[in-house]
Amino acid sequence: MAISLWTKINTTLCKLDQAIGLLFGLNRSLPNIVWLTGNALNSVKPSAKISLKDIIDNGFLWAVPKHRRSVEKRLKRKFGHPDYVLKILQPRSNIRICNSCGDHYEIGILCPTCYKKVINETKDMQSAIQKKLGLNPVEKEIIVIYEHEKSKLDEYHEGQQIIEMKRPRPSWFSKNLVQQTSKKPAATKDVKPSGLS
Ligand SMILES: [Zn+2]
Repeated sequence: MAISLWTKINTTLCKLDQAIGLLFGLNRSLPNIVWLTGNALNSVKPSAKISLKDIIDNGFLWAVPKHRRSVEKRLKRKFGHPDYVLKILQPRSNIRICNSCGDHYEIGILCPTCYKKVINETKDMQSAIQKKLGLNPVEKEIIVIYEHEKSKLDEYHEGQQIIEMKRPRPSWFSKNLVQQTSKKPAATKDVKPSGLS
């Protein structure tokens, strides 16, 4: 496949070479005809060999810039534009300080330090569940409690598989996850509408 392609390219180049030779009057087959005309013309020397490479090198201009690029365009390419894409370093304004741990976090995502605590706690809970259950099938609903919480369980938790962690509940891990830990539970059950101002 590669050889046939190379042969085709080679043939095409030879044909192009001959065509350019004819165009520029450099036909190299002419001396053969001259040999037949007579001895007087035998002294005619064949024309000097000119290859395609020589013609292209001397006769063609390659792509070069035709116009000078202005300073403004050069700077815009280098540093970008504030209205479009700015390539220079810029101060970030979307960094806030976490109220819980004091670390920095980006607006719109969870605080990485606080989230790491959640990940580690979840892993501990998973390993505790695995340790308790072993290879037994999970037939009951599993509830994880912390120290001193067993006495607070009501009849709702009857029939559930209880797994106790051997340490007190972390302050950030509310038992009721719908409720915020940073605020005291409301006395009333009325919900105030917000964002109406
Ligand atoms: Zn945090």
